[in-house]
Amino acid sequence: MQFIDLKTQQQRILPQLNARLQAVLAHGQYILGPENRELEARLAEYVGTKHALACSSGTDALLIALMAYGVGPGDAVFTTPFTFMATAEVISLTGATPVFVDIDPATFNIDPHKLAQAAAAVVNNDPSLHPLPQSDRPLTARGVIAVDLFGLAADYRAIMAVAAEHDLFVLEDAAQSFGAFSNGRRAGGLGHVAATSFFPAKPLGCYGDGGAVFTDDDRLAETMRSLRVHGQGSDRYDNVRIGINGRLDTMQAAVLLCKLDIFDEELAARQRIAARYSELLADAPSIRTPHVPEGCISAWAQYSLLSKNRDAILSHLQRRSIPHAIYYPIPLHLQKAYEPLDYRAGSMPEAERAAGCIFSLPMHPYLEDGAIAEIAAAVKEAIPD
Ligand SMILES: *Cc1c(COP(=O)(O)O)cnc(C)c1O
Repeated sequence: MQFIDLKTQQQRILPQLNARLQAVLAHGQYILGPENRELEARLAEYVGTKHALACSSGTDALLIALMAYGVGPGDAVFTTPFTFMATAEVISLTGATPVFVDIDPATFNIDPHKLAQAAAAVVNNDPSLHPLPQSDRPLTARGVIAVDLFGLAADYRAIMAVAAEHDLFVLEDAAQSFGAFSNGRRAGGLGHVAATSFFPAKPLGCYGDGGAVFTDDDRLAETMRSLRVHGQGSDRYDNVRIGINGRLDTMQAAVLLCKLDIFDEELAARQRIAARYSELLADAPSIRTPHVPEGCISAWAQYSLLSKNRDAILSHLQRRSIPHAIYYPIPLHLQKAYEPLDYRAGSMPEAERAAGCIFSLPMHPYLEDGAIAEIAAAVKEAIPD
């Protein structure tokens, strides 16, 4: 059994994959080839945004979006501490300061009420309103990176309302939520700009690193297009700003085009599998199965549970050779890398509580009923009466 099975999918698309890769080898445009243009058109159509730009990774996609807003030293960017390091790392890379905002324990996503408090704390430079990071000067509130954790969209209606009040941009970290829906809109189209990842283990993954940015904003898209290729202007040797090498290579675009063809079927399989897990685990004592708010469809990047008996459950799964993972064991405000921000244990209680009892079970579209039943039974066996 595998935590994420990529082989079964590869067997399924192998003839199309071979044809697509052969086509790239034949035309030889390894960088920004015709597959990139085709992919970007399909991605924009799929997500429902005006623009989609394929990037070298999800991290670079996030960075390009922040750079496009001109974020830098003295700026505060609000984000969740309960995410993968890349979300906050890009804020620090621009020289700006991450301001962590605790999560809603029901969804594991940033809590919009606490976001409003944190924005007020930064605007008034008053840490009594919300815990603020150590900083040698007062910060300017600039934007929010909301994360759609485990594939479930954050509460963008509430987040956009807070953002409007304080003139903040909203960058959606859709690295885990490509394909998800919230109130009739696809993830990737829920903020002012979004970044996704095509890392192999994500819902839509390539065979290497990859990502994309999405927006409806023409000017922002133009700036991001330039940033993606060394800040280029009218041509390759005209540089109008400092950028990065943030392109997706053509081989990866070819892989993604094949995988997009079957992606909706895979999403449907993920819904079925998640529902089956939740049904089988509904009566398990001490287990909290994932909550999906009204109007949302998760992309189920992960199926994550809470239990105070986590350690017993995970050792039992280990004995049964059932793969499992903990996303995330240490919230970002308590990471060594963020010691200089001087956040204290206890400052983000919900994220800290979740980190202490969360775990994830195998999740991929090719997980069979027998395996789901075996995994659920093993979880239940491990729980002490
Ligand atoms: C995977 C991930 C990223 C980074 O994507 P890469 O393609 O690995 O750079 C960023 N944010 C979140 C929430 C992720 O899960």
